[in-house]
Amino acid sequence: MLTLVLRGFLAFVFLAASAFLSARFVLDWPLELSGDEPVETASAPTLSIAPISLGNPAAAKAVLHTQPPSSPFDPPVIFRTYEETIRAGRGDTLSGMLTDLGIDAEDIRASIQALSKVYRPRDIKQGQEISVTFLPNENLFNAGTFLGFSIERDFTKRIVVSKNDDGSFSSKQVTLDLNRTLVRSEGQIKNSLYVSGRKAGIPAAVLVELIRAYSWDVDFQRDIRTGDKFQVMFERYMTEEGEEAYNGNILFAALTLSGTRNAIYLHKLKDGNTDYFNEKGQSARKALMRTPIDGARLSSGYGRRKHPILGYTRMHRGVDFAAPRGTPIYAAGNGSITYAGWKGGYGKYIRIRHNGEYSTAYAHMRRFAKGMGTGRRVRQGQIIGYVGTTGRSTGPHLHYEIMRGGRQTNPLRVKMPSGRKLKGKALETFMATLTQTDRLYSSLPVEFKVADK
Ligand SMILES: [Zn+2]
Repeated sequence: MLTLVLRGFLAFVFLAASAFLSARFVLDWPLELSGDEPVETASAPTLSIAPISLGNPAAAKAVLHTQPPSSPFDPPVIFRTYEETIRAGRGDTLSGMLTDLGIDAEDIRASIQALSKVYRPRDIKQGQEISVTFLPNENLFNAGTFLGFSIERDFTKRIVVSKNDDGSFSSKQVTLDLNRTLVRSEGQIKNSLYVSGRKAGIPAAVLVELIRAYSWDVDFQRDIRTGDKFQVMFERYMTEEGEEAYNGNILFAALTLSGTRNAIYLHKLKDGNTDYFNEKGQSARKALMRTPIDGARLSSGYGRRKHPILGYTRMHRGVDFAAPRGTPIYAAGNGSITYAGWKGGYGKYIRIRHNGEYSTAYAHMRRFAKGMGTGRRVRQGQIIGYVGTTGRSTGPHLHYEIMRGGRQTNPLRVKMPSGRKLKGKALETFMATLTQTDRLYSSLPVEFKVADK
């Protein structure tokens, strides 16, 4: 039991620390890169943290939170159950995860059998959460008595497996009735959109989405000034009891930066895809990503610097993102692979041609994703490989280059080619969305308004 509590606590500390780190990037990004950036290594002094830390999708399962039984010094709480929430990592099986919690093999077998009457255990996906219920034992050093578990099938359905009095297990599906509400929030930015947004009561997950939606256009380290403004309208789903179930999409947002207002609207296209568009019907998404990796920190910028292995000063024609070995690397844009293989000091290297003008390159990979090879077409955001330290490299990192007309340019500075622009009928439909959204927004009360000075 103690180890479980301890593990939960450590996981909490880890999550809190990562939350802090991802919050920090907007706070202080000492980005002025001097001419000679010293080292290309993961252990190099941190110049900055990557613009977005959205978590590593390949992260292993983690205990999210624990409600431990009270300490032995508290009044008796013997009938209060507690829950361990576990998250499925890559390749995890339900039975393996329950075993890790110290649950008896026979209970695991019987509970999974009950589950399979309403849900196939192998449908549990990476990242899915399972909430396991225990009754505390008097001896807190032992794991509690296993009472069952529940799985969120999606936002509206939950599968509950519970232990009966006779020791057998039964399962059922519970449907949650949710009401959709809209939340309007606005305020002023002091130093960082993230921090000011949190102060205004915007949930962290919504802010991450907001930053992601704008990250194509806004450099959150350079473009934010004190006094800039934000407005946002997002969906919130409530249970019948009036509790928040989850936050949905951002339908509208506007950032007013140095007096210029940039509004984006969520719009569903005829083909069923949804995307953000500005007031002119131009996609907010750009043709290329500046940071084709999540949860990394910029460890070396573009420019002249002393090479860590070769020792002499030379031009660094890309940017380096330090990240743990195995972190997925994404294709920065749609295109086709023109090179996938070993390339001298670059180690395992992939180059993608996006159009007649732009290509991107990714170096020092540990390995390529399945099926990556010359001629293969890739979509933006598709995983093409994993961070490693192959070639001339002193630690796991992604070396990323953007080539324009065959020459490397600074990925953090290059003006990104824009995404699609709606025309004709599609533009008309979008304009109707825009009008309706604007009307909705102004009809809502400002839920959280904080003078953030
Ligand atoms: Zn590099």
